[in-house]
Amino acid sequence: LEPTDFSQESKKVIDFIANYYTNVEKFPVLSQVKPGYLKTLLPDSAPVSSESLEDILNDITTSIMPGITHWQSPNFFAYFPATTSTAGFLGEMLCSGFNLGETNTSPAAAELETLVMDWMAQMLELPPSFLSSGNGSGVLQLSTSEAMVCTLATAREKVLREKGYEGISRLVVYASDQTHSSLQKCVELVGIPPSNFRCLPTTYSDGFSLTPRTLEDAIEKDIESGLVPFYVCATVGTTGCGAVDPVEELGKVARKYNLWFHIDAAYGGSACICPEFRHYLDGVEHANSFSMSPHKWFLTYVDCCCLWVQNPDNSLKEGLPTIGTEYLMNDDDDSESKDMEDYKDWQIASNKRFLAIKLWVVIRRHGLATFRFHIRSDVKLASYFESLVAKDNRFEVVVPRKFALVCFRLKSSHSKEDKNQNQELNKNLLLEVNKSGHAFMIHAVVDGVFFIRCAIGSTLTQECHVVSLWKLIQEKATSVLLNFSN
Ligand code: PLP
Repeated sequence: LEPTDFSQESKKVIDFIANYYTNVEKFPVLSQVKPGYLKTLLPDSAPVSSESLEDILNDITTSIMPGITHWQSPNFFAYFPATTSTAGFLGEMLCSGFNLGETNTSPAAAELETLVMDWMAQMLELPPSFLSSGNGSGVLQLSTSEAMVCTLATAREKVLREKGYEGISRLVVYASDQTHSSLQKCVELVGIPPSNFRCLPTTYSDGFSLTPRTLEDAIEKDIESGLVPFYVCATVGTTGCGAVDPVEELGKVARKYNLWFHIDAAYGGSACICPEFRHYLDGVEHANSFSMSPHKWFLTYVDCCCLWVQNPDNSLKEGLPTIGTEYLMNDDDDSESKDMEDYKDWQIASNKRFLAIKLWVVIRRHGLATFRFHIRSDVKLASYFESLVAKDNRFEVVVPRKFALVCFRLKSSHSKEDKNQNQELNKNLLLEVNKSGHAFMIHAVVDGVFFIRCAIGSTLTQECHVVSLWKLIQEKATSVLLNFSN
C-alpha cells in the first residue's frame, strides 16, 4: 500500500466506475450470457506475479461485464432497487478505507453507530423507547436476514430461559404468506422445526395483508395443541406485491399473547420518512424490534440494514450468546459505567465494517428534504406508470399500489379466466421484454395469480425510461397476443 500508487490506481478505478455509470444504459440490463461462460475466458489458476491494473480493468470490461445484470441501469425494474448515490459511494470508500476490525477498539465507530441509528430513528419518528436516550438501541447489520436471526435468537433465548431449553421444538413463529422467504430460512437457522413456521394466508380483499383474526386463530390453535407461540413478523412493503401488514392490530395480538413482535420494513421503511407514508408504522410502539434496509431505497450501497430494539428487556446483548474470551475484552469491559456500546455483542460476527460512517455521510450529504424528494419522485413515476397501464384495456393493475411497485398483467382474452393460460401469456410477455435487453422486470404469484412487477426506484431512472418501458411492453404484448390467438 504505497500512497502514490494507492491514489493513482484508486483514481483510475473511480474513473472506470464513473464511465460505467455514464454508459450503463447502453448494456443489456439482464445479463445475456449462459452460466459457465466465465471459465472459458479466465485462467483457472492464480497469477504468480503481479498483473497491471490496465489488464485487470480490461478483463473486467471484456469478460466480467457481459455476465453482469446491471442493477444500476435506469431500465432496471426488477426486485427492489439497490439505490446508489455519490454520497453513498463516498461513504462506502470511507468505510472500506478505514477498514476497522472490531468497533470496540474505536470509540468513534461505536459512538457514530449509536448516533446515526438515533438520527434514522428520529427521521422515521420511532417512539423514544427505540432511541439510545430512551434506553432502546439501534445497531447496523449487513442484511435483514441477520437482523431476523439476531431477533429470533434473542426472543428464543427469553422464552426458553423461562420455559426450559428442551422446549425448543414447541416454539412457533408466525408471518404471512407474503413474508420474505428469508424469515423461514432464519427460523430454521435458529433451530425452530420447519413445521413450526406458520405461513398464514392472505387474500386480495385484505390487500394481501395479514389480518389480526387470522393471526389470533392460528395462535389459539397452536396453544390448544400444546405448542408455544413466541415470534410474529409483520412486513411493511412485501417483496411480492408491496403489501403492508396492519402493524397496530398485529402488535396488539402479539402483546396479548406475549409474543416477540418484529417489523420487517426492508423496502417500505425508507418511504416512512415522508409524513404521507408514516401511518404505515402506526403501532410500531408494540414492536420489540424493527428493521429497514437503507441499501434498498435510501441511496446507500449494499450492505446496510438498520435494526432497532425497544427498551433494555429486548436487548440483543441479553439474547445472543456472549463468549468472554480474553482477547476480545477491552479496558471498558471491566469498568462500571459504559459510555460506548460493544456492538460485537449485538450481531453474529466479531468484526464489523464501518457501516456507520457510510450511512452518516449519506445522511449528511442529502438531508431529510432530499430523501423525501427522492422517495416522492419514485412514487410519482410509479403512479405515472400505473396510469399508462390503466389506459390500455388489454392490461390491468393486479394489486393496489402502496409505494413504487406496480403489479400488473395482461388480462385474459376470454371472459372466463383461465389461470394457466393467463400465466403463459404473461410469462411470455415478461420473457420477451427481458430478452430484449432494454429492461428487466421479474414476476410474482399471489393468490395463484401470476403477474409482472415493475419496481421503480433505480437511482438513474427518469420519466423517459418509464415511457420507453411502457412502449416496449405494449409492443411485446401485441406480438405475444398475436402468437396466442394463432
Ligand atoms: N425482507 C424484505 C421485505 C425484502 O424485500 C428482502 C429482500 O429483498 C428481504 C427481507 C431479505 O433481505 P436480505 O437479503 O437483506 O436478508
